[in-house]
Amino acid sequence: IFGAERKNSKGINMNIISESEPFFAALDKFKEQQWSAGPIVDGETLSGDTVEVKSPYDTTKIVGKVAFANNQAIEQALASAHNAFGSWCSTPVEVRANALQKLADLLEENREELIALCTREAGKSIQDGIDEVREAVDFCRYYAVQAKKMMGKPELLPGPTGELNELFLQGRGVFVCISPWNFPLAIFLGQVAAALAAGNTVVAKPAEQTSIVGYRAVQLAHEAGIPAEALQFLPGTGATVGATITADERIGGVCFTGSTVTAKRINLTLAQRDGAIIPLIAETGGQNAMVVDSTSQPEQVVNDVVSSSFTSAGQRCSALRVLYLQEDIAERVIDVMKGAMDELTIGNPSSVKTDVGPVIDATAKANLNAHIDHIKQVGRLINQRELPADTENGHFVAPTAVEIDSIKVLEKEHFGPILHVIRYKAADLPKVIDDINSTGFGLTLGIHSRNEGHALEVADKVNVGNVYINRNQIGAVVGVQPFGGQGLSGTGPKAGGPHYLSRFVTEKTRTNNI
Ligand code: NAD
Repeated sequence: IFGAERKNSKGINMNIISESEPFFAALDKFKEQQWSAGPIVDGETLSGDTVEVKSPYDTTKIVGKVAFANNQAIEQALASAHNAFGSWCSTPVEVRANALQKLADLLEENREELIALCTREAGKSIQDGIDEVREAVDFCRYYAVQAKKMMGKPELLPGPTGELNELFLQGRGVFVCISPWNFPLAIFLGQVAAALAAGNTVVAKPAEQTSIVGYRAVQLAHEAGIPAEALQFLPGTGATVGATITADERIGGVCFTGSTVTAKRINLTLAQRDGAIIPLIAETGGQNAMVVDSTSQPEQVVNDVVSSSFTSAGQRCSALRVLYLQEDIAERVIDVMKGAMDELTIGNPSSVKTDVGPVIDATAKANLNAHIDHIKQVGRLINQRELPADTENGHFVAPTAVEIDSIKVLEKEHFGPILHVIRYKAADLPKVIDDINSTGFGLTLGIHSRNEGHALEVADKVNVGNVYINRNQIGAVVGVQPFGGQGLSGTGPKAGGPHYLSRFVTEKTRTNNI
């Protein structure tokens, strides 16, 4: 499906023992490993005061330590990336693309370490870890191929005889890449790979909760041939490192994935800083709905609802938050869903049996539990799982489903395993569509219906970036479902799509009256 020019990344088939046994044996080697990470500036890992990294699923378990970037590291990284731009931008696109292809190979070679890190540092399940590495690999290969297609030679434009008109695409300068913890490898590297492929140098800041994954990714990128000066790594908090690098006059663009609030804050910083007017590529949150009509098949609906809402502990930007059920089918779906929720295995993400792991940290847990307490008062509880005793040292939130009367009672995105259910009458479908649009978010939409005309009409009228009909609404695949939203969900880039790199370049024409 990807065409001959791009190799699909390898997965692991857990049902084939000759594949799964060596995988688990390799994974096992990293179960006690302690990592140590810090800023990587001009290829050197800098030391400094370190913070201990504790696993979200058991905070008595230490994953390693990380030194956050200080002002001196920030200054050196920005100055070097700025100086290196000319040379990286004029490096032939084939050379840049080859380095990204090599990086994809190295990610696959180091797959087990990266999956172990995703599990231990970010609390991801093993399946999520496998998917995470595959997506990172796909991003590197996809942008390598796209860059060669788009930037290999200038586009020839028409003109009068004797005049040569050409359109060139070039990198913009230093791109600041700021990523969230929920895809610590795939989104972190997706941003970096796109910016580098397009000829920009990069200053990358991972989410503070997942600095070690980002650190290993940058080490591998340098090993793959990305010049040390072209890719600088600055771990640290948003308020310190993030705010400083986005305010710097020398940067040429910002690629950000995270919450809507932070995207707006960065926009303000960019508007107020000295220097050029530069683009912000922002991919942010959602208030994602699924609309289920009475022609749907309840068991299939429930499968898709449960995977969309509760896997990854609901910590996907695409995750289902609000399930609309046409009243004729509502009782049956709710009934089957209660049973399916009871079947979810909650616990240690390192166990292959686990469906729902922890949320990222104590703040997320407190906020989500506060929302559950509140929404149980406003609505009617459908199901709330008991947390197993062995989760008490971690940041676990009980998967919960609550029936509410209107999407309008949800004032913001709740980034965890909480599903809100609303019943609707067939005649009220236009109001359902208006209500979903009225949130201002526009990321994913699920539809379940066996009436195709009906499904396509809903798909057409809801303003979102990604629509999924009769399946779950998570797990966009690079090159297959280019991913990104609109409105409060972002500035509209489609990561893993054919137009993404055009956001990272400037265009220049040259008219030559030979
Ligand atoms: P966040 O906004 O808190 O943090 C994201 C990143 O921004 C982190 O690296 C953080 O350190 C940094 N940051 C924070 N304040 C900053 C500032 N003032 N200046 C510069 N950088 C700053 O988000 P999060 O909690 O890490 O991630 C979860 C959010 O990300 C959710 O809203 C989710 O929907 C969204 N998300 C969106 C997508 C998408 O593709 N649309 C994908 C994944 C996650």
